[in-house]
Amino acid sequence: LMQLFRPLDLLGMVYRTIRQGLVDMDAMFKLIDTDPEIKDKPGAATLHVRAGAVAFEDVAFAYDTDREILKGLSFTVPPDGTLAIVGPSGAGKSTLARLLFRFYDPKAGAILIDGQDISNVTQNSLRGAIGIVPQDSVLFNDTIGYNIGYGRNGATQEEIEAAAQGAALDDFIAKLPDGYETQVGERGLKLSGGEKQRVAIARTLLKNPPILILDEATSALDSRTEDEIQATLGKISERRTTLIIAHRLSTITYADEIIVLNDGQIAERGNHRMLLAKKGLYADMWKRQAEDRQLEAV
Ligand code: ATP
Repeated sequence: LMQLFRPLDLLGMVYRTIRQGLVDMDAMFKLIDTDPEIKDKPGAATLHVRAGAVAFEDVAFAYDTDREILKGLSFTVPPDGTLAIVGPSGAGKSTLARLLFRFYDPKAGAILIDGQDISNVTQNSLRGAIGIVPQDSVLFNDTIGYNIGYGRNGATQEEIEAAAQGAALDDFIAKLPDGYETQVGERGLKLSGGEKQRVAIARTLLKNPPILILDEATSALDSRTEDEIQATLGKISERRTTLIIAHRLSTITYADEIIVLNDGQIAERGNHRMLLAKKGLYADMWKRQAEDRQLEAV
């Protein structure tokens, strides 16, 4: 997901921020807010999320004029539904998430949330409505409590503890030398990949957004941690409209709809069962990954 932050003028600042171990999606949004290309329109409305339906209508996009990345994508995610996006590396999966956050505007077509074109609403209201669990969150050099509480300004200790519990972090924190006051990050306790992901989940629980983007880590966690994280993610995506950028197909078999992106277009769509029956791209990917899983098990 770090690829979200490509605008060149920001790169230096972003890089320094990463070096300081201070990166977080929300912090990045603040940096991105300084991007002169994307501005609130004069008199931009506040986004009102009622049901939480997301629609891409014939969305085309290119970073550079000579190479189209998304070539007219249309899909809808119904309120509380789960859409998984799969496809080869470079297919445009993360680009699609960047557009939903309005880091960029589509070159053609529109993105709507509950019928409101996201280019007509304030960035604040848009980004406030969308939570993201990134592949790899980097922690602030501060206490674990602060790192969780960052999900929402003014969260109380009780709320922070409830979020930690929701993300199955509470037992871990109880065993830390100073509990919620334990320093983490580069200059404190180093957390494992799974623990960091739980912090991101806890932040998202505090933020309580109606729309969620899960960016599945490419690097595999051990299978028990993976299962536990999947269970927690499953819980937080209930009652929210969820887009999952998935690398392991085994984690998204339950999705209402799966879109196979290839070369900026929707190559296949349907649920897991339908896509397997098609014996196309998805079925091939599934077979390959099943073989890999068997090899791992040996
Ligand atoms: P992966 O699974 O490897 O993360 P992806 O499907 O998420 O891949 P994207 O990150 O959306 O792919 O990238 C789609 C294409 O756009 C790639 O060819 C990539 O090189 C290109 N791209 C991404 N960001 C930029 C950028 N800021 N400027 C120019 N090209 C970019």
